[in-house]
Amino acid sequence: TLEATRPVPRPGVMAIDAYVPGKSGAPGAAKVYKLSSNETPLGASPKAIEAYRKGAEKLELYPEGTSAELREAIANLYGLDPDRILCGSGSDELLSLLTNAYIGPGDEGLFTEHGFLVYKIAILAAGGTPVVAKEKNLTTDVDAILAAVTPKTKIVYLANPNNPTGTYIPFDEVKRLHAGLPKHVLLILDAAYAEYVRRNDYESGLELVASNENVVMTRTFSKIYGLAALRIGWMVGPAHLIDAVNRIRGPFNVNAAAIAAGAAAIADQAFVQKAIEHNETWLPWLTAEIEKLGLTVTPSVGNFLLLHFPRDAGKTAAEADAFLVSKGLVLRRVGAYGLPDALRLTVGTEEANRHFVATLAEFMKT
Ligand code: PMP
Repeated sequence: TLEATRPVPRPGVMAIDAYVPGKSGAPGAAKVYKLSSNETPLGASPKAIEAYRKGAEKLELYPEGTSAELREAIANLYGLDPDRILCGSGSDELLSLLTNAYIGPGDEGLFTEHGFLVYKIAILAAGGTPVVAKEKNLTTDVDAILAAVTPKTKIVYLANPNNPTGTYIPFDEVKRLHAGLPKHVLLILDAAYAEYVRRNDYESGLELVASNENVVMTRTFSKIYGLAALRIGWMVGPAHLIDAVNRIRGPFNVNAAAIAAGAAAIADQAFVQKAIEHNETWLPWLTAEIEKLGLTVTPSVGNFLLLHFPRDAGKTAAEADAFLVSKGLVLRRVGAYGLPDALRLTVGTEEANRHFVATLAEFMKT
């Protein structure tokens, strides 16, 4: 056998396209409105910020290793068993850990056509094979997922609402998906945008987790809690799954300041309520105003929406993006998701939202 002249990654590693975050700057613009990463325009709870500062006082000490304070706070809010909760450095880390625990070479991970890009990266990184199920009208199609299940399927990833589409399937459909899966297939309910969903059946996902051995729900502090910079996620699942993932996680995977800030954020539900109300006001407003300009918007239940520039309209998403950036409006191009003619917009402050609509109107007239 030939000896390589330098270390060579495992087969498949170099075939992975690295995750590319949205752009954050708008060179030359007087003021930047970052509407590209589904971050909240309201910032974090002042109580969380204060807890963060206190939590960062003793930098020489390792954090408590199981995120106990944070798990307790989450468990109290939702009436869960803290032993069934595991925290991570963003839900991204939890998605990777779950994938590493259940998928290896020869196994398949299944997600939808415009599913969150991290699923594919995590599956490939674990040596597994990504399998994609078609969507209908940019919405999860349960029948297509069930039809794509094979004897090799180990995990089904379902973001509900999905990013970048913002679309949602009702809980009955989630239940139908679960009922159609073999018991050894893990169903990951990625609920990154859970708090924004104004549907009274939403928390039912937690019941599905509580009453089954093959369902886990991942959540994040990056969105409505406004703590994206700290990278905090959590998941709740059956005891056997938490035990398995706990064995492969890194020690001290959530930092001390993050644990403190997360717990304080959970305790400030009044702040969350304000963020919900802000979104309830501005998501429909943005949808309606964009449609008035003759563009199509995919109905969203998250804190973001997709707007489409039809090929025959003479205006492209790329041109719109360039024009918007020149006015300080940073949106997300979603070509990597197979949506080259769309832009994803995060709901911003009132000022940002009004500036966006006025600027889009200006662009449509050019
Ligand atoms: N899932 C979905 C659907 C997302 O949109 C995101 C954030 N882009 C994540 C998971 C990961 O979030 P985080 O790692 O910040 O918790």
